[in-house]
Amino acid sequence: MSGVVGVLALQGAFESHETVLRGLGCATQQVRTPDDLAKVNSLVIPGGESTTMSHLLLTSGLFDPLKERLVDRLPVFGTCAGMILLASHIEDGRPDQRCFSAIDIDVRRNAYGRQIDSFETDLDVQGIDGDFHAVFIRAPQVVRYGPGVHILARHDDDVVLAREGAVLVASFHPELTHDDRIHRLFIEMLLEV
Ligand code: GLN
Repeated sequence: MSGVVGVLALQGAFESHETVLRGLGCATQQVRTPDDLAKVNSLVIPGGESTTMSHLLLTSGLFDPLKERLVDRLPVFGTCAGMILLASHIEDGRPDQRCFSAIDIDVRRNAYGRQIDSFETDLDVQGIDGDFHAVFIRAPQVVRYGPGVHILARHDDDVVLAREGAVLVASFHPELTHDDRIHRLFIEMLLEV
């Protein structure tokens, strides 16, 4: 049973995640308040703008309760800005920007430069047969990862999909292509943890 899958709905591409999850038969809950958070058994943190999400997490009073749930091993999937929020350290962040240190990776925001800030490519993903077409939009780059982090996909030498325990992160946007196989990996992960 995957239970209720929460989607952090403060800002960003949360509706696309919800559509994919519903298509997979999951019960979903948009999370904007600590009460919403209390109803979920896992969480997706979408792409968007990590500085804005960090600010809204603090002003909505969600940051600390979510940090506690993550310490208690709430299964979580962060995409792009969501990956930044789950990281242990952010390079090129705003000085007041916070992150959850839920996974032992450091990331650099907007690492692919301003001229080619968005691109698409096919990835070879561990656990998925055939290519996965991935959309990168002002994507973060993983600049360090710890020994407990399991790498599921790379683009050139860069880690773009990784897992540690109950935390899955992608630097691209699997919710924006009509391919639900990475969300399926997350749902399968929920059955294991
Ligand atoms: N560059 C954005 C940030 O720093 C992330 C971009 C995205 O989520 N598509 O939050």
